[in-house]
Amino acid sequence: MSMLELEDVHVAYGRIQALRGISLRVEEGQIVALIGANGAGKTTTMKAISGILGLQSGTMRFEGEDLTAIRADLRVAKGISQVPEGRGIFPGMTVAENIDMGAYLRSDRRSPEFAADLERVYELFPRLAERRSQAGGTLSGGEQQMLAMGRALMARPRLLLLDEPSMGLAPQFIAQIFRVIEEINAQGTTVLLVEQNATQALGLAHEAYVMETGEVTRSGTGAELLADPTIQDAYLGVS
Ligand code: ATP
Repeated sequence: MSMLELEDVHVAYGRIQALRGISLRVEEGQIVALIGANGAGKTTTMKAISGILGLQSGTMRFEGEDLTAIRADLRVAKGISQVPEGRGIFPGMTVAENIDMGAYLRSDRRSPEFAADLERVYELFPRLAERRSQAGGTLSGGEQQMLAMGRALMARPRLLLLDEPSMGLAPQFIAQIFRVIEEINAQGTTVLLVEQNATQALGLAHEAYVMETGEVTRSGTGAELLADPTIQDAYLGVS
């Protein structure tokens, strides 16, 4: 059984058909990348999984359980955490308060596990440790991305949904974010990653899916798609 399975998923915004029958699988322990041009439906797919958007038809299962029957806020308790595109941090709250918000469903705040998780977030992102008492809204774009990821990790996700984590970041931050994604995965969290930065995403993905106008048009290992001339021409900026 896969950790996450989408089968023939259709989603529409009014009359706009954004997903036209998406099927994909995420195996436990993997990094899976979704790539594709603007408007292909990548963000819509993430929102359907996290529960922000409902399905018109199709099925979604998480660890064998029907996800569509579970409310969005309860999917976090099931182990699914999303870092949305644009990050959505709380600008008026400090870095430490933002990180704490990620743990709102946890009842083990005084436990050693909680302290260890907090320490792990600050180890992954030393910049956040230095800026603990600074307002989230005053952080740079890259730092806000780190904050959003740190906050999501405090929910102890089994599946982390990352929507365009490298968007708008300076090159040194992009490299760091991709390193941290690999580290988070190595520590046992399964990752579904949406990226415009296809070369880097395919470089670390175990499996990847290519989306075009609401459909999955290709899938394979990250290495297979990286080596494929048609993918290179269309998405990787090499020819
Ligand atoms: P990008 O990389 O540009 O974010 P994407 O692959 O994530 O692209 P989506 O954001 O999922 O694409 O959009 C898929 C389609 O749904 C697009 O045609 C888009 O215009 C449309 N769409 C997205 N959000 C809405 C909305 N709130 N109302 C109407 N149409 C929408």
